[in-house]
Amino acid sequence: MLLSDKYPFLTNYFTAALSDSNRALPQSILFYGNDLNSQYILATEIARLLNCQGDKSDACDCLNCRWIREHSHPEVRTISRLDNKPEDDDSKTVISIKQSQMIKEALMSTSEFHRVFIFCDRDDKGRICGLNPQNFQAETANSLLKIIEEPQPGVTFIFLTIYKDDVLPTIISRSQCFFVPSKENVTYDYTLIENIFIDYLNFKRKDVFDISQKLQDLTKESDCKAILTAIQNYMLLLLRANPDRTEIIDHINCVEDAIRQADLGMRSINIFDDLCLKIIN
Ligand SMILES: [Zn+2]
Repeated sequence: MLLSDKYPFLTNYFTAALSDSNRALPQSILFYGNDLNSQYILATEIARLLNCQGDKSDACDCLNCRWIREHSHPEVRTISRLDNKPEDDDSKTVISIKQSQMIKEALMSTSEFHRVFIFCDRDDKGRICGLNPQNFQAETANSLLKIIEEPQPGVTFIFLTIYKDDVLPTIISRSQCFFVPSKENVTYDYTLIENIFIDYLNFKRKDVFDISQKLQDLTKESDCKAILTAIQNYMLLLLRANPDRTEIIDHINCVEDAIRQADLGMRSINIFDDLCLKIIN
């Protein structure tokens, strides 16, 4: 399945950002969520849109698009503990300082291409995995900060991880973060919260605790996580229909944080209060 069919809201967002010169694409992007493979495909798709010299369609057959599909583009690089190591680098468990230096040196010269560095991990079977404090350690992450925050046209960094907290806060604060939903969510079932959220985009600040209480009442019948998942599905569908309402992306991130709080066993009423305060302004 093409990515534009699978995650239309995310591809719409990036396509809009890429075609509108007033709306700059962030220099540093972080994807998080369980589905690392989709994150990687999305990162590659962004690299393709940034380098395409044709019509940017899914079927484009220009040289850049072909290179990227064959994973052989000279300036679109996967940076992991196993990929793109300098010759004198024998580290096997981490993205190393030497790799960071290699990137810095590469950026000292100009390129006719848009350079994209995709930071992730791989397991021993070659499958894409997420960054975490073991494979992407503070020393290496910090050594990249200067080049990440220094605006440099034609360069984009993309970081892939399961949990946002697994990447150093200094990287997070310099990146635009996007939650990439996992494949299991594609049914987008939201019947649980439909009656409560029907007017979500028009919620008023004074309704915060009323809505939170309505969600709490649902916990008599359903568990907190199922309720939150239904809210997230509802938002994903709304975003799909309204790709310009980028605040929904932030709200989806807030619900993802709430799901993690539920996993940690926090009381549902506190989770709902906290969430409603964040998403209703
Ligand atoms: Zn192309």
